[in-house]
Amino acid sequence: MKTVIRGARVILPASVSETQVVVEDGAILEITDRYEPQPEDRLICAEGLYLCPGFVDIHVHGGGGFSVNSGSKDAVTHMARAHAFWGTTSLLPTTLAAPMPQLLGAISAVKAASLCPDGPTVLGVHLEGPCLNPVQSGAQAPGSLLVPAEADIAPLLEAWPEGLKMMGAAPELKGGMELGNELSRRGIAASIAHSNATYYEVQEAVKHGYSDVTHLYSSCSGLIRINSYRIPGVIEAGLNLDELTVQVIADGKHLPLELLSLIYRCKGAEKIELITDGLEFSASELKEGTVYRQENGMETVYEDGVMKLLSRQSFAGSVATLHRCVGNMVKAGVPLAQAVRMAGENPARRIGAAKKGRIAPGCDADLVILNKELSPVWVMARGSVLRDELDAHRR
Ligand SMILES: [Zn+2]
Repeated sequence: MKTVIRGARVILPASVSETQVVVEDGAILEITDRYEPQPEDRLICAEGLYLCPGFVDIHVHGGGGFSVNSGSKDAVTHMARAHAFWGTTSLLPTTLAAPMPQLLGAISAVKAASLCPDGPTVLGVHLEGPCLNPVQSGAQAPGSLLVPAEADIAPLLEAWPEGLKMMGAAPELKGGMELGNELSRRGIAASIAHSNATYYEVQEAVKHGYSDVTHLYSSCSGLIRINSYRIPGVIEAGLNLDELTVQVIADGKHLPLELLSLIYRCKGAEKIELITDGLEFSASELKEGTVYRQENGMETVYEDGVMKLLSRQSFAGSVATLHRCVGNMVKAGVPLAQAVRMAGENPARRIGAAKKGRIAPGCDADLVILNKELSPVWVMARGSVLRDELDAHRR
């Protein structure tokens, strides 16, 4: 049996086209107007709606009430399902800095969850830290941060070598450049994260294998003045250096639309990865004012649609799902197809997930139908339908 989706405006890698997408055995078979659906085929009529590739979130700490750092395989599976309901059909569960045993437990939980053969795909693991700069700790637990030259982080790199897809680190720390070399030698994307580096240190880091910036503007150094002279930082380097892709939390809270537009002007459509940086309560309903103690001991509060540190000095991660980030980029003036690319093809390419993030023959059948408000009404992950509100939508 094939599934045939017709009538939608299909967001393809290079165009938006009103065509049919044919799915079989969990993969996209072809994109064609010529196929005549057979009586046994499942026909999905999506007139007036958008069909996008399933979103790919490469920086997400939890969702649906579950967190990666809990170290439970079921928690990772539930979190993936919670995000999938909102169109994120693959994700890279991301750890927060924590004591080594907790991190190793989280890695093995993610590894176990990644073996699930159907539904949303767990693509591997992203370690955000623990080699981060305490000056830019944000919501990372300061007591768990390590200096690469003084710590043995080999167990983290060895725990699941083929699954470790990305690691965030501050290159200016002692041993940070060597860490970049090691990550790039292993084929792991090295992202400049929670860093207080100057522009010039970032240029050096690029030579040592760093190729990405974690949540640009958040926990990143910016322009400072020393004795009248202006010293640019990670933010300016991220915007200006072609060698760097940038992760952007487009939840509409961390960055105003004007900054989203500025980032787009600097980086273009191909070098931005939309991320949620979502915490345990992303992809779930949360009451305003809820105070929540994270696995790493940090006290956070839900206020104005975002998680903040209890001190209100800093955001502590979002409660968003990626479809909202796509919508915010569109509000910031980015064409829909390019915003979708930033939530699909770009992050997938960043971590080498060749069959994700695109509607193309041979890619996994991870598909989302969005209504005119860009909210998901139908979601398919690896050929299984996880959400279907098409009838309700038509009524
Ligand atoms: Zn994060």
